[in-house]
Amino acid sequence: MADLKALRILAAALLSSGALAVSCPSSAADSVEALKSRELDASYRPAAAAPAILDAGEVDTPEFQKTSLGPGLNIYFVSVFQGDAELIELPNGKNVLIDAGPAPAPDSQYKTPIVSSFLKKHGVTKIDHMVMTHPHADHYGGMQWIFENLQVDNFYDTRVDNSDAVVDNFVREAAKKEPGCVVHYPAEGDTLNWDPSVKIKVLNACPNRGRSADHKDKGAFLNNCSIILKISYQSSTALLMGDAQDEVEARLVASYGKGLKADVLKVGHHGSAYSSTEAFLKKVKPKKAYIEVGKYNDYGHPTQAALGRLEAIGAEIHRTDKEGTLTYVMKPTKEAPLGGIQKLTLGPIFSAN
Ligand SMILES: [Zn+2]
Repeated sequence: MADLKALRILAAALLSSGALAVSCPSSAADSVEALKSRELDASYRPAAAAPAILDAGEVDTPEFQKTSLGPGLNIYFVSVFQGDAELIELPNGKNVLIDAGPAPAPDSQYKTPIVSSFLKKHGVTKIDHMVMTHPHADHYGGMQWIFENLQVDNFYDTRVDNSDAVVDNFVREAAKKEPGCVVHYPAEGDTLNWDPSVKIKVLNACPNRGRSADHKDKGAFLNNCSIILKISYQSSTALLMGDAQDEVEARLVASYGKGLKADVLKVGHHGSAYSSTEAFLKKVKPKKAYIEVGKYNDYGHPTQAALGRLEAIGAEIHRTDKEGTLTYVMKPTKEAPLGGIQKLTLGPIFSAN
């Protein structure tokens, strides 16, 4: 099996480098033309139609770009319909995938998750660090494909089980079977050593065993278990909220106060009304807010309530349903203060029970 996987990875690398035409060993649905039409289906933003959202901190992503956005730290907010996936290119050349969007619908003509198109297009054959913020299908659905087709070196997970789902268990089994992959269960307060020039602090996680049925609380328990990361590189900061809701936001405010301030906010829970509370946003004060959300979703995301609060704080709002995959670039500068965040109070922010 390992040999087969190595062949797949090699084929993907050749395909993305252009050395191999479109005769990918997997299905015809993976051909370049298919990926193109699929991304148009997914309201993926073709470069030619890119809206004028470029500024010093952001660059457009051309079609079929095969290389990094450049030195520094780059974040891609990947358009995966209704779900989350963020790819981070670290200054040391390693990469991070936070969530992987949904799996293809059973009746879909596509047999691979939408995130696979993005990863192939960017020539990604290996994930150094993959984070499953919490066990909901719009976050882990693409991970089975990733474990089957790419090399994953580190997997970051919570210990909470979604008792209404089974595929989360398959993903976790795949992580344990992945050759050379180390599984981590980060806790609030941990620092992740992904790159010596970047500070990555875990602000929320559920490292203790827990179990929840979504039908009882509309997913709130699992959402509130989301692994939340604050990433600081030189003078730039990003706060990635997973699907955390108001309860966690209130605890973050109490624990970190102004330390939550961040240039970039990956808005919690796709712009749900129960996230992005006023008190929380007043501490974060994001310059840019990124909402990963699908067109015509069944949840009413993003809600006018959350959008209104983000507007009121003065954040520039970007949405994957309107603009496709978005990028944020933290360029290296000469002065390099290592940012961070200090906790104001003791004790866990959120723990599973
Ligand atoms: Zn979600």
